[in-house]
Amino acid sequence: MRRSKPAKPAHGTTPPTPDTAQPVDDPAHDVAHGESPNGVIMSVGRGCAEVALDDQVVDARLSPELAAVQQTELAVGDEVFVSHRMGVVRVESVAARRTTLSRPDPGNMHRRRVLAANIDIAVLVLSVRRPAFKPGLVDRFLVALDDGGVQPAVLANKADLLESEVARDDIRDALAPHRALGVPVELVSAETGEGLQALRALVRGRRSVFIGHSGVGKSSLLNALDPRNERLTSAGREGDGKGRHTTTHSTLTALPDGTEVIDTPGVRAFGLWHMDRAALREAFPDLAAHAGGCRFRDCSHLVEPDCAVRRAVEQGDLAASRLASYQRIHESLAS
Ligand code: GDP
Ligand code: ZN
Repeated sequence: MRRSKPAKPAHGTTPPTPDTAQPVDDPAHDVAHGESPNGVIMSVGRGCAEVALDDQVVDARLSPELAAVQQTELAVGDEVFVSHRMGVVRVESVAARRTTLSRPDPGNMHRRRVLAANIDIAVLVLSVRRPAFKPGLVDRFLVALDDGGVQPAVLANKADLLESEVARDDIRDALAPHRALGVPVELVSAETGEGLQALRALVRGRRSVFIGHSGVGKSSLLNALDPRNERLTSAGREGDGKGRHTTTHSTLTALPDGTEVIDTPGVRAFGLWHMDRAALREAFPDLAAHAGGCRFRDCSHLVEPDCAVRRAVEQGDLAASRLASYQRIHESLAS
C-alpha cells in the first residue's frame, strides 16, 4: 500500500505549498554531492519523499536511481543529499545509516524493509487490555535490536483498564525479566496520563520510533506527547477511513522541543537477518549467564542433557517465558 500521491505533510510541519516545493535556487542548498547531507526524510511515497531542509519541509522527487531501489534504500530518518535545480527539489542519494530498525517485507519474508533509520531509541508499545496483553513480542523485539546502537524501551499502555493492584502486578511481573536486563519498562495510560512524565524523559531530545500492533494506543501516546495534538487515533480514523495519519507507513514528527518521533504502521514481525543460532544465544544475556554450567559448550538449551539454563528455569532463577521465547525464535532461524 504505497501512496501514489506526494506524501502529505507530517503533522505540525509547515505544509508544503507550491511555493515551498519550488524554492528559489539557493546555492547553499545545491550540494547534491557535497560533503554532508542536507536533508532528512520525513515520509516516503512512490517516487517522492517529504524532506526536512534547514527550517522547512518540502515535497521532493527521488532520482531515478533512488526511486528504483527506494523500498530497501530509503527510509524515514535517512539523511539525504538534496539538489535544487530549476525549481525541482530532488533527493539524489542517501548517507550511511547510523542505526536501522527493519522488518520483513509483508510480501516476501526474506526481504528486508527498513522501518526507520538513524534512531536513538525504539519504543515497543503493548496494550494491557483491549487488545489483550502479549508480552511474548518483547523478547523478539529485544533480539531484533541486539545488533546495537538503538536503545529499547517497553510501554504497557491502557493501565487505566487494569481493575486491581493484582492485575497491575501481573503486568509488572511479566515484564520483570526485561527490566532486569536494563530495559526501561513503564506502565502508562494515554487516557489518564499515568507514566507520561517517564515517557517524556525517555524520548526527550532524541529520535525515537514507536512500534506495536495497531490498536495498542501508539497514536494516542504520541498525541499526548505533542502539545499540538493533531494525530488521528484509530477511533478517529474509523470515521472517514482516510485520515491523515492512517499509519500505513512511517512518518517522522518533530516536536517543538526538538524531540523527534517516528510512528510506524502496525508491525507484526521483526526481521532477524543478522542472527544465526550462536548469535541468538548471545542475544539472550540472561540465559547466557547460566550457560557456563551446561555440559556442552555449544548447548542449545533445548534437548541436551545436563543443561544449566533449563535447570535455572526449574529452580525459579530464570523466567520460563524467556526460555520459551528463545526456543520459539531458535526454531524460526536457519541453523
Ligand atoms: P494505534 O493503532 O496503536 O495508534 O492505537 P490508537 O492510539 O489509535 O488507540 C486505539 C484505541 O485505544 C482508541 O480507541 C484509543 O482511544 C484507545 N486507547 C489508547 N490509549 C488508551 C489508554 O491509555 N486507555 C484506554 N482506556 N484506551 C486507550
Ligand atoms: Zn544449556
